[in-house]
Amino acid sequence: MRLAKHIIDNLIAKLTETVHKKDGSKIVCLACGKRSAQHSFFSQQLCNHCANDIPWIMKHVCEFCGRVQACTDCTERLRANGQVLHKNRSAVQYTPTMKKWLASYKFRGDERWASIFAEMMWLTWQTQMDTPIDIITYVPTSKERAIERSFNQSERLASLLSERSNIPVMPLLCRLQNGDKQSMKSRTERLSIEHAVFGFNSQALGQWKQKSLRVLIIDDVYTTGTTLHACAKCLHEIADIRCYGLTWARS
Ligand SMILES: [Zn+2]
Ligand SMILES: [Zn+2]
Repeated sequence: MRLAKHIIDNLIAKLTETVHKKDGSKIVCLACGKRSAQHSFFSQQLCNHCANDIPWIMKHVCEFCGRVQACTDCTERLRANGQVLHKNRSAVQYTPTMKKWLASYKFRGDERWASIFAEMMWLTWQTQMDTPIDIITYVPTSKERAIERSFNQSERLASLLSERSNIPVMPLLCRLQNGDKQSMKSRTERLSIEHAVFGFNSQALGQWKQKSLRVLIIDDVYTTGTTLHACAKCLHEIADIRCYGLTWARS
């Protein structure tokens, strides 16, 4: 579905809206560290200057993965596997600035970013996902990595999005093996490890087990789509589940 022009216009107006603090107090921007009497409408932790530089994805070329450029990955995957991930949408382009923001959250463990990212994803969800969702789940991290980082960044985002949407979050997926860090792998290596990384945690479904479900899988970045497709394939093959993806960034 293409977004109606007035929806895009309203969204842009909202995203660039600045809130002036009336009580004379100042915020300290999480991104630039400067003190400011103004903040963005969606977070009191970002100054309006940093918020206005966010590279939002408003228009996409690929209807499946939401990429802003032409995309051959999705057509190749569709031919090879059929449609397992019905749609992915991402809030922002993964620019050098967004990489820095994610690094603060994911690698330096500053959890204050979680609410900002979740709020950005919630905006994208509301404006670009036109399908009803029954359950939210997230890309699981390995136990070692969770200990190393002290939290699973995608699980945190999923929980916050569950609070916003009132849709339950369930741990439907588990890691079957620990691969090398994704960022260390080449694009070809990442495309080839699409299978057997994730398992289905059927117990988590509980009372929902017998139903036909629409599941939204949350992750931080969509790069080649390998991770989300592997998750979707795992759920799609075992249960009557239609999978969608929502990530914070799209590279
Ligand atoms: Zn700032
Ligand atoms: Zn695509």
